[in-house]
Amino acid sequence: MAQTPAGPGVDAFRLPRPVPQVREPRSTSNDTPMRETPDISTEVGIHLKLETSDEDDDYEDSLLSDSSSGLEDGFPPSKKGLPISQLRTGLCYDERMRYHSEIAATSGENVHPEDPRRIYYIYKELREAGLVEEPGVVPFVEHPLLRIEAREATKKECLLIHTDEHYEFVKSTAEMSDESLIDLSEDVTMDSIYFNNLSYFSSKLSAGAAIETCRAVVSRKVKNAIAVIRPPGHHAEVTRTMGFCLFNNVCIASKVCQEDFGNECRKILIVDWDVHHGNGCQGAFYNDPNILYISLHVHMDGKFYPSGPEGDMYHCGAGAGLGKNVNIPWPSKGMGDGDYMYAFQMVVMPIATEFDPDFVIVASGFDAAAGDELGGCFVSPACYAHMTHMLMSLAGGKIAVCLEGGYNFQAISKSAVAVTRTLMGEPPDRLPATGATASAIDTIAKVRNVQSKYWRSVYPKEPVSGSFEGERLHDIIRQWQAMHLYDKFKLTQLHVFRDTVSKSFDQQVLASPNYEARKYLLMIFHDSPDLLFGSNSGVTTQQKPQDTWLVDGVQSYIRWGVSHNYGVIDINIPEFITVDPNTGSSSYGESGGYENNNVEYSSNQTDLARREGEKLASYLWENYVEPYDFPGGIFLIGAGHAFHAVAKLVSENENVYPNLTGIIGFISTNPIRPIYNHNHPWLPQWYKDNSQIFVSRAHSLWKKDGKASKRYGTLVRSEGLLLNEMMKLHEKEVFEWIAEKADVEGDEDEEDEDEDDDEAEGKTEDEEDAVAVKTSGDTESDNDTRNVLGETATANNTRGESDGDTIDDPAETETARALDSTSHQFLVPVVQSTDGTSDEGATSGGGGGGGTSAGVATNTSGPNNGGDVYMTTE
Ligand SMILES: [Zn+2]
Repeated sequence: MAQTPAGPGVDAFRLPRPVPQVREPRSTSNDTPMRETPDISTEVGIHLKLETSDEDDDYEDSLLSDSSSGLEDGFPPSKKGLPISQLRTGLCYDERMRYHSEIAATSGENVHPEDPRRIYYIYKELREAGLVEEPGVVPFVEHPLLRIEAREATKKECLLIHTDEHYEFVKSTAEMSDESLIDLSEDVTMDSIYFNNLSYFSSKLSAGAAIETCRAVVSRKVKNAIAVIRPPGHHAEVTRTMGFCLFNNVCIASKVCQEDFGNECRKILIVDWDVHHGNGCQGAFYNDPNILYISLHVHMDGKFYPSGPEGDMYHCGAGAGLGKNVNIPWPSKGMGDGDYMYAFQMVVMPIATEFDPDFVIVASGFDAAAGDELGGCFVSPACYAHMTHMLMSLAGGKIAVCLEGGYNFQAISKSAVAVTRTLMGEPPDRLPATGATASAIDTIAKVRNVQSKYWRSVYPKEPVSGSFEGERLHDIIRQWQAMHLYDKFKLTQLHVFRDTVSKSFDQQVLASPNYEARKYLLMIFHDSPDLLFGSNSGVTTQQKPQDTWLVDGVQSYIRWGVSHNYGVIDINIPEFITVDPNTGSSSYGESGGYENNNVEYSSNQTDLARREGEKLASYLWENYVEPYDFPGGIFLIGAGHAFHAVAKLVSENENVYPNLTGIIGFISTNPIRPIYNHNHPWLPQWYKDNSQIFVSRAHSLWKKDGKASKRYGTLVRSEGLLLNEMMKLHEKEVFEWIAEKADVEGDEDEEDEDEDDDEAEGKTEDEEDAVAVKTSGDTESDNDTRNVLGETATANNTRGESDGDTIDDPAETETARALDSTSHQFLVPVVQSTDGTSDEGATSGGGGGGGTSAGVATNTSGPNNGGDVYMTTE
């Protein structure tokens, strides 16, 4: 309503505060037409009558009278008025929580991030937004925030979560000398904490503030509330302080509310959107079936604070609490609005809705906010508002937001105001169109898979053993592909002996008829085709096939090969590979990433699956290629993670490359694998001269300075992002390159000319065999010959083992951001129309779309087993 502090009418609406004036609704006569809604803009300060039970008598309305017969049958009577939204939003803030501070006054860069001023800046921003009522300050809103008094939590309350020893320890700090407090703060076992003599008091006040805030919401003294409190709590464990946290505020408040309100507040949802995992909350309620803890946090494979595996997605609770712990662990920093909205739509809200809590508490760190250095993420105030808005749909709107971390004064203030305005009833600001990143989509898919065991509304589910005869979609797709490739090109299966390579490769290898008698051979190793998902309701995450599209970039290559009389062998590398149980699970831990010895091909924790791919490649070479003669030449194509098999085949089998004419690679966000062999020092030069490795513009490679070694081949920057998109984008280029190579077999001078120039240039800057990188695609007109990755080549020449030596790519964030704007996909409907004359089916947009690029295989942080692994580190 009135936003300006001056002008006619303003004084009038100020009068009734702070006690809301309750008047009769202006018009309750039986014949008020619908259109005659009371115009309250001219009569500010009018309040609709609150519903009371004795008013049920005059439950009549002209709108109903005509057709009243039976209308009420089976429906509860409509509620009258807006009893809940009339209530004010609560605010708990007490400046005495600022007393907890570092003893040694530090300044500049040494100031501890958990700075007492954090809560002051939030409060100040709320006041400046006109939402707060305090002496001498005129709020800009009719119903300003209702102040909730903070108080110290009692010992009894703290002991609902913490041990007596822990409580007594914190208490003892109140009496310690400054020297011992400083010593204590430097004690590593305290894990990121500082104390002064008032820390005990402030932390009890913080916990008490959380309690009173939650109690005010549950008891409906306020509509909902925000507690601007510190020190934070979500890292504090049952037995110890940790990560700036002394007592676990939201956990204590949860327990107090359960005790005080019984059935009215039995099931509590805690959503923790602090950028760090709330290890304290998870630990406190791990066995509790009545408290659902959902945390979204940066995890980085356990390398981000608080470190370790506890924050991974496989920690789902235990005992009675199994399934009541949901971790959404981001694999890297850099997550943004699209990722958080996607997580809310696909995981948080479906699960929260199914849980149906009596009360919602947000452990609201604002350190995932844009501008927070500790978090390194990009969540905007508007996004926090949207998340708040979604959670407000739960528990009849009973939601309390309690501050946790967040260390950039600007970011936390703006975010807190956005959340508070939303709590007060203001719609969230619009979010600019934004898509989830590939790594978020990948993470969410895995979280859903894990959580689908515990939640009816979450899909996909593992097939119930035997009863459904469930088949993996990728098997079905491969069968369809095989059929289709037979129909079109008469491709048939090459037999692969099970005892030699994984059974996962059954039916994955197809070859064109009499391929072995052709002049040329084209061997294509590629990842499974992508699925694009269309619309989804969000309440359940079940995916319908009619909204799902199969994207296959390989077909045009097969068609080209077959139509040019090449022998074609098509090798599909499934996303999951069944590995030998004897080499598998033991090293991988119980909660680790796979079951039934199914290992993800792109896994960054083990290369067991990729080793199966290597075996397959050698097997095919030995049995289906080597015995025959292809006088025109042999070309290998490796697309996506499958490129690994190509690189290994060439690197480790000395007799392979002399028979090859060229190698094509397509790398979107997966690591770039080198090709080299210590016994053949000239192999990298050969590779560089005879390869085209297309690398997505979003790959972290392009962000590095320096030069890439020849071992990575001739790297070509692609304007594409998704694998299939890249394959489509460069197909002409590739066909021409292959044709040219095939023609000039044995005579390579002319075509290497310009590259030699580049190389000469590079060598002046770097003693190692540096290559210049050539740019392809036309959007960037600068003839971008910048060099990449200086030390790459020298670092690790002696290593021969599997995965150490890659140019890795966790740059998925940018990939998906960019994807958001690049909507052209190449879609092939899952069910091919029978009259399809062209199998290209490149209808872009289609029913798919949805802005998301599901199924993009991403590799966030590659194999990190030493060697020159290149990662985008923060
Ligand atoms: Zn945090």
